[in-house]
Amino acid sequence: MDAGLYIHIPFCVKKCPYCDFYSITDESLHPAFMDALVSEMRMTRDPNLTFDTLYMGGGTPSVLDAKTIGKIIETACQSYEILPHAEITLEVNPGTVSLKQFEGYRCAGVNRINIGVQSFDSVNLHFLGRIHSGRDAHAAVTRAKKAGFENMGLDLIYGIPNQTKKSWLRDLKLAIESEPRHLSCYILSFEPGTPLYRDLQENRLKSLAESQVCELFETTLEFLSDHGYIQYEISNFARESMNSTGLKSAELNRSRHNMKYWKFAPYIGLGPSAHSFLEPKRYWNCADVEKYIQDLDAEKLPLAGEEQLSMKQFMIEAIYLGLRQTKGISIDVFDKKFGVTFKTMFKDTIAQLEARGLITLSQNRCALTSKGMLYLDTVASLFILP
Ligand code: SF4
Repeated sequence: MDAGLYIHIPFCVKKCPYCDFYSITDESLHPAFMDALVSEMRMTRDPNLTFDTLYMGGGTPSVLDAKTIGKIIETACQSYEILPHAEITLEVNPGTVSLKQFEGYRCAGVNRINIGVQSFDSVNLHFLGRIHSGRDAHAAVTRAKKAGFENMGLDLIYGIPNQTKKSWLRDLKLAIESEPRHLSCYILSFEPGTPLYRDLQENRLKSLAESQVCELFETTLEFLSDHGYIQYEISNFARESMNSTGLKSAELNRSRHNMKYWKFAPYIGLGPSAHSFLEPKRYWNCADVEKYIQDLDAEKLPLAGEEQLSMKQFMIEAIYLGLRQTKGISIDVFDKKFGVTFKTMFKDTIAQLEARGLITLSQNRCALTSKGMLYLDTVASLFILP
Protein backbone atom coordinates (compact mmCIF):
# COMPACT_ATOMS: atom_id res chain seq x y z
CA MET A 1 0.00 0.00 0.00
CA ASP A 2 1.30 3.48 -0.80
CA ALA A 3 2.36 5.52 2.21
CA GLY A 4 1.18 8.90 3.52
CA LEU A 5 3.36 11.83 4.49
CA TYR A 6 2.13 14.11 7.27
CA ILE A 7 3.75 17.44 8.08
CA HIS A 8 2.84 19.15 11.33
CA ILE A 9 3.07 22.93 11.20
CA PRO A 10 3.22 23.81 14.89
CA PHE A 11 2.09 27.44 14.77
CA CYS A 12 -1.24 29.15 15.43
CA VAL A 13 -2.22 32.80 15.65
CA LYS A 14 -3.89 32.09 18.99
CA LYS A 15 -4.55 28.96 21.02
CA CYS A 16 -8.20 27.82 21.05
CA PRO A 17 -9.32 26.78 24.55
CA TYR A 18 -10.65 23.37 23.47
CA CYS A 19 -7.61 22.28 21.47
CA ASP A 20 -5.01 19.78 22.64
CA PHE A 21 -2.95 19.63 19.43
CA TYR A 22 0.59 20.81 19.84
CA SER A 23 1.21 24.37 18.60
CA ILE A 24 2.74 27.64 19.75
CA THR A 25 2.08 31.26 18.82
CA ASP A 26 5.67 32.52 18.59
CA GLU A 27 6.07 33.58 14.94
CA SER A 28 9.76 34.37 15.34
CA LEU A 29 10.50 30.62 15.15
CA HIS A 30 9.05 30.19 11.62
CA PRO A 31 12.39 30.46 9.74
CA ALA A 32 14.31 28.16 12.11
CA PHE A 33 11.44 25.67 12.01
CA MET A 34 11.55 25.65 8.21
CA ASP A 35 15.30 24.93 8.20
CA ALA A 36 14.76 22.11 10.69
CA LEU A 37 11.89 20.65 8.66
CA VAL A 38 14.00 20.63 5.50
CA SER A 39 16.78 18.82 7.43
CA GLU A 40 14.30 16.31 8.82
CA MET A 41 13.02 15.53 5.32
CA ARG A 42 16.53 15.03 4.01
CA MET A 43 17.48 12.82 6.98
CA THR A 44 14.43 10.57 6.80
CA ARG A 45 14.51 9.72 3.07
CA ASP A 46 13.17 6.23 2.56
CA PRO A 47 13.71 4.77 -0.93
CA ASN A 48 11.46 1.81 -0.11
CA LEU A 49 8.29 3.87 0.16
CA THR A 50 6.12 5.59 -2.41
CA PHE A 51 3.66 8.22 -1.21
CA ASP A 52 0.30 9.04 -2.71
CA THR A 53 -0.68 11.60 -0.06
CA LEU A 54 0.96 14.61 1.53
CA TYR A 55 -1.00 16.30 4.29
CA MET A 56 0.03 19.58 5.89
CA GLY A 57 -1.85 19.93 9.17
CA GLY A 58 -1.25 21.44 12.54
CA GLY A 59 -1.42 23.86 14.11
CA THR A 60 -2.34 26.28 11.37
CA PRO A 61 -0.37 25.64 8.17
CA SER A 62 -1.96 28.72 6.58
CA VAL A 63 0.11 30.96 8.86
CA LEU A 64 2.82 30.16 6.30
CA ASP A 65 2.71 31.98 2.97
CA ALA A 66 2.41 30.27 -0.40
CA LYS A 67 6.14 30.50 -1.10
CA THR A 68 6.95 28.63 2.13
CA ILE A 69 4.30 25.99 1.46
CA GLY A 70 5.77 25.65 -2.05
CA LYS A 71 9.19 25.06 -0.55
CA ILE A 72 7.82 22.33 1.75
CA ILE A 73 6.17 20.54 -1.19
CA GLU A 74 9.26 20.90 -3.35
CA THR A 75 11.60 19.54 -0.66
CA ALA A 76 9.19 16.70 0.08
CA CYS A 77 9.19 15.76 -3.62
CA GLN A 78 13.00 15.84 -3.70
CA SER A 79 13.31 13.76 -0.54
CA TYR A 80 10.56 11.18 -1.02
CA GLU A 81 9.00 9.42 -3.95
CA ILE A 82 5.72 11.30 -4.16
CA LEU A 83 3.54 9.93 -6.94
CA PRO A 84 2.34 12.32 -9.67
CA HIS A 85 -1.34 11.87 -8.79
CA ALA A 86 -0.73 12.38 -5.03
CA GLU A 87 -3.42 14.07 -2.94
CA ILE A 88 -1.75 17.17 -1.48
CA THR A 89 -3.84 18.70 1.29
CA LEU A 90 -3.39 21.92 3.18
CA GLU A 91 -5.40 22.77 6.29
CA VAL A 92 -6.36 26.41 6.45
CA ASN A 93 -7.83 28.60 9.14
CA PRO A 94 -10.48 31.00 7.75
CA GLY A 95 -9.02 33.85 9.77
CA THR A 96 -5.71 33.68 7.93
CA VAL A 97 -6.34 33.37 4.18
CA SER A 98 -6.81 35.91 1.39
CA LEU A 99 -7.78 35.05 -2.19
CA LYS A 100 -4.21 35.69 -3.28
CA GLN A 101 -2.96 33.25 -0.69
CA PHE A 102 -5.37 30.53 -1.87
CA GLU A 103 -4.21 31.12 -5.45
CA GLY A 104 -0.61 30.92 -4.32
CA TYR A 105 -1.19 27.62 -2.50
CA ARG A 106 -2.73 26.19 -5.65
CA CYS A 107 0.22 27.26 -7.78
CA ALA A 108 2.53 25.76 -5.14
CA GLY A 109 0.98 22.33 -5.80
CA VAL A 110 -1.78 22.02 -3.17
CA ASN A 111 -4.72 20.19 -4.80
CA ARG A 112 -6.98 19.68 -1.80
CA ILE A 113 -7.92 22.32 0.73
CA ASN A 114 -9.40 21.63 4.13
CA ILE A 115 -10.97 24.63 5.82
CA GLY A 116 -11.40 24.69 9.59
CA VAL A 117 -14.79 26.44 9.46
CA GLN A 118 -16.01 24.84 12.74
CA SER A 119 -19.22 26.93 12.60
CA PHE A 120 -20.80 29.71 10.57
CA ASP A 121 -22.26 31.16 13.74
CA SER A 122 -20.15 33.89 15.33
CA VAL A 123 -21.52 33.14 18.82
CA ASN A 124 -20.29 29.53 18.56
CA LEU A 125 -16.98 30.67 17.10
CA HIS A 126 -16.54 33.09 19.95
CA PHE A 127 -17.23 30.32 22.46
CA LEU A 128 -14.62 28.14 20.71
CA GLY A 129 -12.12 30.98 20.94
CA ARG A 130 -11.58 31.01 17.19
CA ILE A 131 -9.97 34.01 15.51
CA HIS A 132 -12.57 34.09 12.72
CA SER A 133 -16.22 35.12 12.48
CA GLY A 134 -19.10 33.49 10.61
CA ARG A 135 -18.55 36.01 7.83
CA ASP A 136 -14.84 35.07 7.61
CA ALA A 137 -15.85 31.41 7.33
CA HIS A 138 -18.13 32.22 4.34
CA ALA A 139 -15.46 34.37 2.77
CA ALA A 140 -12.80 31.65 3.07
CA VAL A 141 -15.04 29.06 1.39
CA THR A 142 -15.88 31.49 -1.43
CA ARG A 143 -12.24 32.42 -1.93
CA ALA A 144 -11.09 28.80 -2.02
CA LYS A 145 -13.64 28.08 -4.76
CA LYS A 146 -12.72 31.21 -6.65
CA ALA A 147 -9.07 30.19 -6.52
CA GLY A 148 -10.08 26.95 -8.26
CA PHE A 149 -10.02 24.44 -5.42
CA GLU A 150 -12.55 21.86 -6.57
CA ASN A 151 -11.43 19.40 -3.96
CA MET A 152 -12.46 21.10 -0.75
CA GLY A 153 -13.24 19.73 2.70
CA LEU A 154 -14.81 21.60 5.61
CA ASP A 155 -14.47 20.84 9.32
CA LEU A 156 -17.39 21.55 11.63
CA ILE A 157 -17.84 21.17 15.39
CA TYR A 158 -21.11 20.50 17.19
CA GLY A 159 -22.25 19.68 20.69
CA ILE A 160 -21.31 23.18 21.82
CA PRO A 161 -22.95 24.28 25.11
CA ASN A 162 -26.38 25.85 24.46
CA GLN A 163 -26.34 24.77 20.80
CA THR A 164 -29.76 23.83 19.51
CA LYS A 165 -30.77 21.42 16.75
CA LYS A 166 -31.95 24.43 14.75
CA SER A 167 -28.60 26.20 14.94
CA TRP A 168 -26.67 23.01 14.07
CA LEU A 169 -28.93 22.43 11.07
CA ARG A 170 -28.21 25.97 9.94
CA ASP A 171 -24.47 25.23 10.04
CA LEU A 172 -24.97 22.02 8.07
CA LYS A 173 -27.11 23.80 5.46
CA LEU A 174 -24.57 26.56 5.01
CA ALA A 175 -21.76 24.03 4.79
CA ILE A 176 -23.31 22.04 1.94
CA GLU A 177 -24.28 25.18 -0.01
CA SER A 178 -20.73 25.39 -1.32
CA GLU A 179 -20.85 21.70 -2.30
CA PRO A 180 -17.63 20.64 -0.56
CA ARG A 181 -16.51 17.15 -1.49
CA HIS A 182 -15.82 16.30 2.10
CA LEU A 183 -17.20 17.16 5.53
CA SER A 184 -15.78 16.31 8.93
CA CYS A 185 -18.28 16.85 11.75
CA TYR A 186 -16.69 16.49 15.16
CA ILE A 187 -18.41 16.43 18.53
CA LEU A 188 -16.81 18.98 20.84
CA SER A 189 -14.69 17.10 23.32
CA PHE A 190 -13.34 18.38 26.60
CA GLU A 191 -9.74 17.23 26.54
CA PRO A 192 -7.89 17.07 29.87
CA GLY A 193 -5.34 19.85 30.20
CA THR A 194 -7.25 22.35 28.06
CA PRO A 195 -8.80 25.57 29.44
CA LEU A 196 -12.25 24.35 28.35
CA TYR A 197 -11.80 21.17 30.40
CA ARG A 198 -10.89 23.28 33.46
CA ASP A 199 -13.96 25.46 32.93
CA LEU A 200 -16.11 22.35 32.90
CA GLN A 201 -14.45 20.87 35.99
CA GLU A 202 -14.82 24.13 37.89
CA ASN A 203 -18.47 24.54 36.86
CA ARG A 204 -17.94 27.66 34.80
CA LEU A 205 -19.78 26.01 31.96
CA LYS A 206 -22.22 23.20 31.43
CA SER A 207 -21.83 20.71 28.61
CA LEU A 208 -24.80 19.59 26.55
CA ALA A 209 -26.68 16.60 27.96
CA GLU A 210 -25.77 13.26 26.39
CA SER A 211 -29.29 12.95 24.95
CA GLN A 212 -28.90 16.33 23.21
CA VAL A 213 -25.54 15.32 21.72
CA CYS A 214 -27.14 12.06 20.51
CA GLU A 215 -29.92 14.06 18.88
CA LEU A 216 -27.40 16.29 17.09
CA PHE A 217 -25.45 13.23 15.93
CA GLU A 218 -28.60 11.65 14.51
CA THR A 219 -29.53 14.97 12.90
CA THR A 220 -26.11 15.02 11.22
CA LEU A 221 -26.47 11.50 9.82
CA GLU A 222 -29.98 12.13 8.54
CA PHE A 223 -29.35 15.55 7.05
CA LEU A 224 -26.11 14.62 5.31
CA SER A 225 -27.44 11.34 3.96
CA ASP A 226 -30.50 13.21 2.57
CA HIS A 227 -28.11 15.58 0.80
CA GLY A 228 -25.84 12.99 -0.80
CA TYR A 229 -23.06 12.82 1.77
CA ILE A 230 -22.06 9.28 2.63
CA GLN A 231 -20.70 8.60 6.08
CA TYR A 232 -17.58 6.42 5.88
CA GLU A 233 -16.13 7.02 9.34
CA ILE A 234 -17.76 8.16 12.58
CA SER A 235 -17.07 11.86 11.89
CA ASN A 236 -16.35 11.86 8.16
CA PHE A 237 -18.63 12.18 5.15
CA ALA A 238 -17.85 12.21 1.43
CA ARG A 239 -20.12 13.66 -1.26
CA GLU A 240 -21.57 11.27 -3.82
CA SER A 241 -20.65 12.11 -7.37
CA MET A 242 -20.63 10.40 -10.73
CA ASN A 243 -17.50 8.30 -11.29
CA SER A 244 -15.85 7.53 -14.65
CA THR A 245 -18.13 4.54 -15.23
CA GLY A 246 -21.23 6.70 -14.80
CA LEU A 247 -22.07 5.27 -11.38
CA LYS A 248 -22.71 7.34 -8.28
CA SER A 249 -19.98 6.91 -5.70
CA ALA A 250 -18.48 8.81 -2.80
CA GLU A 251 -15.28 6.80 -2.77
CA LEU A 252 -13.13 9.31 -4.65
CA ASN A 253 -14.18 12.15 -2.37
CA ARG A 254 -12.93 10.56 0.84
CA SER A 255 -9.82 11.88 2.50
CA ARG A 256 -7.25 9.53 1.00
CA HIS A 257 -4.73 10.57 3.63
CA ASN A 258 -6.92 9.97 6.68
CA MET A 259 -7.86 6.55 5.33
CA LYS A 260 -4.20 5.58 5.80
CA TYR A 261 -4.55 5.89 9.58
CA TRP A 262 -7.63 3.69 9.67
CA LYS A 263 -6.27 1.05 7.30
CA PHE A 264 -2.85 0.43 8.87
CA ALA A 265 -1.07 1.90 5.85
CA PRO A 266 2.47 3.14 6.46
CA TYR A 267 2.82 6.84 7.21
CA ILE A 268 5.64 9.16 8.12
CA GLY A 269 5.02 12.21 10.27
CA LEU A 270 7.39 15.17 10.28
CA GLY A 271 7.45 18.20 12.53
CA PRO A 272 7.07 18.49 16.31
CA SER A 273 4.69 15.92 17.88
CA ALA A 274 4.10 14.10 14.58
CA HIS A 275 3.66 10.32 14.70
CA SER A 276 4.90 7.72 12.21
CA PHE A 277 3.91 4.13 11.63
CA LEU A 278 5.95 1.57 9.74
CA GLU A 279 4.59 -1.83 10.67
CA PRO A 280 5.20 -3.05 13.35
CA LYS A 281 6.88 0.08 14.71
CA ARG A 282 5.31 3.34 15.81
CA TYR A 283 7.48 6.33 16.71
CA TRP A 284 6.93 9.99 17.39
CA ASN A 285 8.70 13.33 17.54
CA CYS A 286 9.12 15.58 20.58
CA ALA A 287 6.27 18.06 21.10
CA ASP A 288 8.55 21.06 21.50
CA VAL A 289 9.50 23.35 18.59
CA GLU A 290 12.70 24.60 20.22
CA LYS A 291 13.98 21.11 20.99
CA TYR A 292 12.96 20.00 17.50
CA ILE A 293 15.06 22.81 16.01
CA GLN A 294 18.04 22.13 18.30
CA ASP A 295 18.05 18.38 17.57
CA LEU A 296 17.94 18.84 13.83
CA ASP A 297 20.53 21.57 14.00
CA ALA A 298 22.79 18.98 15.63
CA GLU A 299 21.84 16.52 12.84
CA LYS A 300 19.92 14.35 15.27
CA LEU A 301 16.37 13.10 14.65
CA PRO A 302 13.94 14.75 17.12
CA LEU A 303 12.43 11.46 18.34
CA ALA A 304 10.62 11.33 21.67
CA GLY A 305 9.64 7.67 21.71
CA GLU A 306 8.91 4.50 19.85
CA GLU A 307 7.10 1.24 20.40
CA GLN A 308 6.95 -2.07 18.70
CA LEU A 309 3.35 -3.22 18.51
CA SER A 310 2.83 -6.70 19.91
CA MET A 311 0.35 -8.99 18.18
CA LYS A 312 -2.13 -8.30 20.98
CA GLN A 313 -1.78 -4.51 20.62
CA PHE A 314 -2.18 -4.89 16.88
CA MET A 315 -5.43 -6.79 17.28
CA ILE A 316 -6.84 -4.22 19.72
CA GLU A 317 -5.92 -1.44 17.32
CA ALA A 318 -7.42 -3.32 14.35
CA ILE A 319 -10.71 -3.64 16.23
CA TYR A 320 -10.74 0.02 17.23
CA LEU A 321 -9.83 1.32 13.78
CA GLY A 322 -12.18 -1.11 12.04
CA LEU A 323 -15.11 -0.05 14.20
CA ARG A 324 -14.50 3.63 13.44
CA GLN A 325 -15.29 2.97 9.79
CA THR A 326 -18.89 2.44 8.72
CA LYS A 327 -17.85 -0.69 6.81
CA GLY A 328 -16.58 -2.06 10.10
CA ILE A 329 -14.04 -4.79 10.71
CA SER A 330 -13.43 -7.03 7.73
CA ILE A 331 -13.57 -10.43 9.42
CA ASP A 332 -11.74 -12.30 6.61
CA VAL A 333 -8.86 -9.84 6.70
CA PHE A 334 -8.72 -9.94 10.51
CA ASP A 335 -8.70 -13.74 10.63
CA LYS A 336 -6.03 -14.00 7.95
CA LYS A 337 -3.81 -11.31 9.47
CA PHE A 338 -3.87 -12.67 13.00
CA GLY A 339 -4.44 -16.39 12.40
CA VAL A 340 -7.58 -16.44 14.57
CA THR A 341 -11.34 -16.84 14.13
CA PHE A 342 -12.88 -13.49 15.07
CA LYS A 343 -16.42 -14.79 15.43
CA THR A 344 -15.41 -17.60 17.79
CA MET A 345 -12.93 -15.50 19.72
CA PHE A 346 -15.48 -12.78 20.53
CA LYS A 347 -18.67 -14.86 20.45
CA ASP A 348 -20.02 -13.64 23.81
CA THR A 349 -19.05 -9.99 23.33
CA ILE A 350 -20.64 -9.93 19.88
CA ALA A 351 -23.87 -11.48 21.20
CA GLN A 352 -24.03 -8.99 24.08
CA LEU A 353 -23.37 -5.94 21.87
CA GLU A 354 -25.79 -7.10 19.20
CA ALA A 355 -28.50 -7.54 21.81
CA ARG A 356 -27.93 -3.96 22.98
CA GLY A 357 -28.20 -2.69 19.41
CA LEU A 358 -24.63 -1.39 19.35
CA ILE A 359 -23.13 -3.53 16.59
CA THR A 360 -24.28 -5.52 13.58
CA LEU A 361 -22.65 -8.69 12.38
CA SER A 362 -22.87 -10.03 8.84
CA GLN A 363 -21.04 -12.80 7.01
CA ASN A 364 -17.82 -10.82 6.76
CA ARG A 365 -18.28 -7.56 8.65
CA CYS A 366 -18.66 -6.43 12.21
CA ALA A 367 -19.73 -2.79 12.34
CA LEU A 368 -21.13 -0.28 14.80
CA THR A 369 -24.76 0.75 14.49
CA SER A 370 -25.37 4.50 14.52
CA LYS A 371 -26.21 4.18 18.22
CA GLY A 372 -22.96 2.25 18.75
CA MET A 373 -20.96 5.00 17.06
CA LEU A 374 -21.59 7.25 20.02
CA TYR A 375 -19.96 4.70 22.30
CA LEU A 376 -16.95 3.62 20.21
CA ASP A 377 -14.45 3.60 23.08
CA THR A 378 -16.70 1.57 25.38
CA VAL A 379 -17.68 -0.89 22.65
CA ALA A 380 -14.07 -1.39 21.50
CA SER A 381 -12.90 -1.94 25.09
CA LEU A 382 -15.31 -4.86 25.46
CA PHE A 383 -13.41 -6.89 22.89
CA ILE A 384 -11.05 -8.32 25.50
CA LEU A 385 -8.23 -10.52 24.29
CA PRO A 386 -7.25 -13.64 26.19
S1 SF4 B 1 -6.35 26.97 15.28
FE1 SF4 B 1 -6.61 24.73 15.26
S2 SF4 B 1 -4.65 23.85 15.92
FE2 SF4 B 1 -4.63 26.06 16.43
S3 SF4 B 1 -5.28 26.11 18.55
FE3 SF4 B 1 -7.11 26.42 17.30
S4 SF4 B 1 -7.95 24.35 17.01
FE4 SF4 B 1 -5.85 24.11 17.76
